[in-house]
Amino acid sequence: MENSLDAGADMIDVRLDNGGQGLIRVQDNGTGIAREEMSLAVTRHATSKIASLEDLERIRSYGFRGEALPSIASVSRFSLTSAARTADGGDAEAWHMELEFGRCVGEGPAALHRGTVIEVKDLFANVPARLKFLKTPATEFKRAQEWLTRLALARPKVGFRLASGSASGSERECLRFLPGQDVRTRLAVIWPELIMEALRPFDGERHGVRAHGFAALPEVAQLRGDRILLYVNGRIVSDKRLLAAVREAYKGRLTSRDYPQVILFVEMDAAEVDVNVHPAKSEVRFRDESAVFSAVLYAVQSALTTPLEASLGDRAPGENSRPAEVPQASLLPPRPRGFWGTVDHAPIMADRFARSDMPDEDVWEVRHPEPQPLPDMDDGAAAVLPPLRSGLAETPAAFGEGVLPPPAEKPVPPTARPAKTVPPAVSVAVSSAPEVIAEAPAPVAALGGGAMPLRIGEFCYLGQVADTYLVVRDREGALLLIDQHAAHERVLYARLRHGAFSGTGQCLALPLELSLHPAEQERACALQETLAQMGFEVELAQGVLLARSIPPSLNRAEARDFLREALAGRKDDLAAMFISLSCKGAIKAGQRLAPDEAAGLLQQWLETPERDYCPHGRPAVLRWDAGALERLFKRKQ
Ligand code: ADP
Ligand code: MG
Repeated sequence: MENSLDAGADMIDVRLDNGGQGLIRVQDNGTGIAREEMSLAVTRHATSKIASLEDLERIRSYGFRGEALPSIASVSRFSLTSAARTADGGDAEAWHMELEFGRCVGEGPAALHRGTVIEVKDLFANVPARLKFLKTPATEFKRAQEWLTRLALARPKVGFRLASGSASGSERECLRFLPGQDVRTRLAVIWPELIMEALRPFDGERHGVRAHGFAALPEVAQLRGDRILLYVNGRIVSDKRLLAAVREAYKGRLTSRDYPQVILFVEMDAAEVDVNVHPAKSEVRFRDESAVFSAVLYAVQSALTTPLEASLGDRAPGENSRPAEVPQASLLPPRPRGFWGTVDHAPIMADRFARSDMPDEDVWEVRHPEPQPLPDMDDGAAAVLPPLRSGLAETPAAFGEGVLPPPAEKPVPPTARPAKTVPPAVSVAVSSAPEVIAEAPAPVAALGGGAMPLRIGEFCYLGQVADTYLVVRDREGALLLIDQHAAHERVLYARLRHGAFSGTGQCLALPLELSLHPAEQERACALQETLAQMGFEVELAQGVLLARSIPPSLNRAEARDFLREALAGRKDDLAAMFISLSCKGAIKAGQRLAPDEAAGLLQQWLETPERDYCPHGRPAVLRWDAGALERLFKRKQ
């Protein structure tokens, strides 16, 4: 089908017998293949689509490797019939070629008016091992149908037809897309009416990247992730960054269990995107990822913004309403969000997305921090690391100037202990090969080595040390150590103050029950609203408090503790309650974070006001720029 589209066809007819195992037949009315080029077309690495290096750098066709026809021809009984157009636009005499498992077994004139017909029979008959991997005919047919539909959505001007045939020759039409339909009409064939009614169009351009399509309002979100269709320059892709941008646009509007429903077309200069990075071409690489990210984010957001929100200026209704040069971190609009890890940022790099086929139901699953056994790195191994030098930890003065901004109180020195742990691998690509690192400032080089750091706006996340501190390089190239607990506390605290958690509580299957003293009863009444603001949903009856839902960041025991404290009146003011709740809910020190989790936390932290200190007043970040490092290494006085 992609070859047919590359050949300018506007009608493509596909027939599958027995899910494709009997016959795969694709007919088109494209330009055809000239007789003298036919044998080249089935020769490996021969393509008519790339003529120069220039072409290779800006690929606009689906094909460019010359792999499909020869590969298929080598594992099937293959026939190619084509009628090329002549120079004057007429149809040349058709020619036919037959191959059996890669060998030409005959050719000659054929009867075909125009275009190309390809027939594949006995697929994998000569590689029984591959045959075993085919699913049932029904499943294979369904996959083919999905793929055809996705392609049809990308090329609405082109007519498509899919039929299922039988050995006796009879045919049943399963799907038909008339040429010239619009995307919406085609989507309506596969998406239910409810979703179609909730679809809002979007179309925006930023930094030379156009993002358009349709996004369903969050109200109709469902627990399935199969309605996220992504395209880059007409090519079907599954790209993590695009997914993250879409997810970001829905942030605060969906719970972690819901999936957005979006069809997104990204159009950009072909030179800005590398399509030759994946064997199935389902992944792409963008030269400027953040440009694509923000183009998609803003375009999708514009579809979701209600008129009220737009008038409040809370969200950008369109791409033109914001100054063009906002630093990336602040590009992300301040929206109420759930607690970390539950309702929040989808993992920036969820390795599941690397799949080439349709997104599955679990693609959005947020991975929770899971303590993992330390690979091969016990105390013994740590002992061979160079010992921690020169009172790094004992000289707060050396660190004081690194704190941003100058601390109000005496800064607490970082608990720089030799890293006994192995940091999580910095990118998905290397996640199975963690590196051993030395102590505090040194990791930057070690962590950067060979691995691709995660970018968060102008910041680069390099890894975690001591299972507690996130190592980051900032826009000036300075080294930051961020205390994950303190940073997260600050994030949660800021959100609590904005009432961001009302309605986000996790429902308990078994409500939490607390018996109340008479004095507590009164206080519980007074606190009910505040508690709701925090994500607690409580009911009061004579002498008992029933919590039906609790903030998603707390487990049962923590929630019980918190309520006890709150009811006992020990947390007398609201701020103190917020601090206590943030502290209980925040990621703890000593908890290993996966790179995407750390990046998610950093991203949220960067958007939070007063982020340099935790709500208790401890520093959340220490910073050393080049000068400070030079002094530490005694290169300079
Ligand atoms: P690629 O698409 O990467 O060039 P293929 O193996 O898919 O490689 O196809 C080889 C060549 O055969 C193409 O470059 C094209 O010239 C020709 N071709 C294949 N299918 C068609 C078609 N349906 N119509 C016209 N030409 C075709
Ligand atoms: Mg091809």
